[in-house]
Amino acid sequence: RERNGDEPEFLQAVEEVAETVIPYIVQHEIYYGKNILLRMVEPERVIQFRVCWVDDEGEIQVNRGYRVQMNSAIGPYKGGLRFHPTVNMSILKFLAFEQVFKNSLTTLPMGGGKGGSDFDPKGKSDNEIMRFCHSFMSELFRHIGPNTDIPAGDIGVGAREIGFLFGMYKKLRNEFTGVLTGKGMSWGGSLIRPEATGYGAVYFAEKMLETRGDNFKGKNVVISGSGNVAQYAAEKVIQLGGKVLTLSDSSGFIHDEAGIDAEKLKYVMHLKNEKRTRIKEYLDKYPNAKYHEGKTPWGVPCDVALPCATQNELNQDDAKTLLKNGCICVSEGANMPSTKDAMHTFQKAKILFAPGKASNAGGVATSGLEMTQNSLRYRWTREEVDNKLKEIMSDIHKSCIEYGKDEDGYIDYVRGANIAGFVKVADAMLAQGIV
Ligand code: NDP
Repeated sequence: RERNGDEPEFLQAVEEVAETVIPYIVQHEIYYGKNILLRMVEPERVIQFRVCWVDDEGEIQVNRGYRVQMNSAIGPYKGGLRFHPTVNMSILKFLAFEQVFKNSLTTLPMGGGKGGSDFDPKGKSDNEIMRFCHSFMSELFRHIGPNTDIPAGDIGVGAREIGFLFGMYKKLRNEFTGVLTGKGMSWGGSLIRPEATGYGAVYFAEKMLETRGDNFKGKNVVISGSGNVAQYAAEKVIQLGGKVLTLSDSSGFIHDEAGIDAEKLKYVMHLKNEKRTRIKEYLDKYPNAKYHEGKTPWGVPCDVALPCATQNELNQDDAKTLLKNGCICVSEGANMPSTKDAMHTFQKAKILFAPGKASNAGGVATSGLEMTQNSLRYRWTREEVDNKLKEIMSDIHKSCIEYGKDEDGYIDYVRGANIAGFVKVADAMLAQGIV
């Protein structure tokens, strides 16, 4: 706290892990007295750099670029890049810290990292995005590599940005390697990677519902966000027979009582991925839906809530409202979307609650599968990757039960995920000595 007092999101993420992991350390002699958590909260390396680029008016713009290389005990650093004006060291350290535990949970050999820039892609032309990405990579390239650090996408970094970043890396290094994941299908990308985080969050929720003899059929589902994770979470919910009632962006949310079906979702994808516009334009085509400016969707009665937009988007009052309206399951698609109070409120009510590091791990897991395919110079089919994704989500669910089942049978997925993620990384760090 003394060292990181000005980094609230990072402290929040660490405190959430510490409150479950410290009691475990105290009970297990091999971890006790080794300052293992203290070592884990200190990034192995932090890189900050200047990113200069020229906008369409010929003005020189200056942004800040970062890469936080948090922990490489179990594999090369792996984690996304976020382009958003709110990006700062606190946000990236929280994301990198979460990533270490998440990657450990996937069962694949990946360390944790995160990076990005305070660059705002909104309203920028394709050429401006390209110039920014090229400039960003002209510094980042010297710190990453297919066996060192393999970035991916996150908020504001999708297929278009990964393409520009990869193009510059390849030019500077003169080599075609799997240094980034989320690549296009014709140049090394993995099938199912675009869908993986959203699908994974729903597969995880399905596993949670199964523990209570339940499933998605006929369930009312409230989703926040309308980006990559939200879109594919919605697609999977629809496929499993659930009814998606809401989607949102940073301006507000849409509520379609009739349900957002596959055809309507296609229109959302067109609005968000091709037209790159606001969610409220949904009403232009479906005027029976309602739009709520400046609001989040948690007041809409539902059985399942999938927060898929951003950190701290669901607070304690929202949690209480969801419970009052009968919500029985929350599976986080975003990273740390629930505040700590909200999380505790869900746990106290003993509903099914999965923290992002478990439920959204399908994205990075499939990135791990993309890395494997790149190394093999081989490509698995859609079914093969989807089956592996399902298997990984099921394994993560099992790990959560192993470390998170209370005496009364309630599964504390937060404790389960934190301890399962911790054990593997801690064991590797102990084996490798004090480095
Ligand atoms: P996108 O950029 O594709 O979409 C982000 C969505 O969240 C947009 O609808 C955006 O609205 C909304 N949003 C962003 N910031 C805010 C904010 N401050 N308040 C309200 N809404 C906001 O990102 P992703 O879908 O990839 O990422 C969403 C979340 O999932 C993030 O927490 C990310 O870290 C996490 N995640 C993503 C993975 C992936 O594979 N993509 C993997 C694991 C986790 P607007 O367009 O108005 O900004």
